[in-house]
Amino acid sequence: MTIQLHGVPLHPTQFSVLGDAFQTRVVPQALPAPYWVCRNASLARELGLSDEWMRSHEVLETLTGSHVPVGLQPTASVYSGHQFGQWAGQLGDGRALSLGALENGVELQLKGTGRTPYSRGGDGRAVLRSSIREFLCSEAMHGLGIATTRALCVTGSDAPIYRETLESAAVVTRTSPSFIRFGHFEHFSHNNMHAELKQLADFVIDNFYSECRDSANYAGNPYAALLDAVSQRTAKMVAKWQAVGFCHGVMNTDNMSILGLTLDYGPFQFLDAFNPAHICNHTDSLGRYAYNKQPNVAYWNLFCLGQALLPLIEDQELALAALEPYKTAFPAALMTQMRKKLGFADPEKAFEGDRQLVETIQNLLAQDKVDYTLFWRNLSHVAAGKPVDSVRDMFIDRAAFDAWMLQYSELLRQQIRRPQPNLMLKINPKYVLRNYLGEQAIAKAKLKDFSEVETLLKLVQAPFDEHPDSERYAGLPPDWAADIEISCSS
Ligand code: AMP
Ligand code: MG
Repeated sequence: MTIQLHGVPLHPTQFSVLGDAFQTRVVPQALPAPYWVCRNASLARELGLSDEWMRSHEVLETLTGSHVPVGLQPTASVYSGHQFGQWAGQLGDGRALSLGALENGVELQLKGTGRTPYSRGGDGRAVLRSSIREFLCSEAMHGLGIATTRALCVTGSDAPIYRETLESAAVVTRTSPSFIRFGHFEHFSHNNMHAELKQLADFVIDNFYSECRDSANYAGNPYAALLDAVSQRTAKMVAKWQAVGFCHGVMNTDNMSILGLTLDYGPFQFLDAFNPAHICNHTDSLGRYAYNKQPNVAYWNLFCLGQALLPLIEDQELALAALEPYKTAFPAALMTQMRKKLGFADPEKAFEGDRQLVETIQNLLAQDKVDYTLFWRNLSHVAAGKPVDSVRDMFIDRAAFDAWMLQYSELLRQQIRRPQPNLMLKINPKYVLRNYLGEQAIAKAKLKDFSEVETLLKLVQAPFDEHPDSERYAGLPPDWAADIEISCSS
């Protein structure tokens, strides 16, 4: 019998297919009197979920735990991981449940549906504030063309949740081709469960990295090829984070997707003024996950994945060799993004002086604390013919900016490449999910006015479009934005 949720078939989750060592069946804990907070109509359409489905009470109740379709067996998976550089032991889905997979294999996961065997001291819940942040940011990342898990909706309840203050409960319904993390591999490796480790690696290769099976590289070792392939995807993802000014905030190995997707949105932030050392997570007192540390931390995390895969790779030299390409893949991917931002045609191609051009402007942006998003957007308009003053006026050291602009024009001339304003306007967003915008939407949502969440969703899903009626969402942040403190509490 096919299990259905309001007429939509739900297939067993990946973890239940993998077997009992990977998951535990969990009954969600019902949230009373649930309501819709926000729905993602465009993702629903992509997934073939009708408007009627997205409005149905049965679906609402299922997504908040008070109804479980006949035969459905939600699962919580077990994983481990390194948190803030330390081995943290067993973690697992402490507040997430995988419901099932849609016809196209996309998994549906609920975050905030109550305690699981992996909750440790936690209540298994998520608050409205952090659920809205995850919902909006995963869609913002997707809109920016950055690989990410998606969010279908947020559902809420007035059930009280205790954090630093009393808050209300919510659930984010997330979707992803897979929720398998580096931490899943670490779990089975650390516990010497090598049969399960192999089963997991084979599952990931067969379903997502089939090219690793017949890779001539790495002496035909598919697990070394997998490590290389995951490194390449991670390098591309982090390069895009850096280029757009995104800080993840909690790059623990359990928050790293094996598919190279941005995963687990907590204290993330898009930079306002450019500050390479910016720390967005108030809890991260040592700045382990500062903006400029992200590329190296990703490598550190890949090293942990390599260690976890070692029983399968069976050759330390081979494992180290498979990690090596990250060191060139990341800077190459970053420079491609930066050449795109600068409007150079043929952005894949490096040329002399390109790196220095980028470094010089980054130093200037940092020195003069220039708004990162506005700088690139304004530069795109200058390339399209607008007077240069709109960018120049953003700097205190105008002479230094003029010198850079000269260098930039000279490089464009030498490369016989005219700047590509149309391409620039498609890589340098007008709208990013600034922290203060999120805070404003959350403040209204706490009063049951979800209109601002809707507005932000529309803007971040099409961040390169002008949206002339929404100029106020594209300006400099207000002064109070600098005082917002976001921690791991969620
Ligand atoms: P995070 O910092 O959100 O990546 O979570 C790290 C670990 O803590 C994961 O195993 C989560 O499932 C778990 N966790 C976080 N918050 C809660 C909570 N409120 N209840 C239970 N487990 C939680
Ligand atoms: Mg997490």
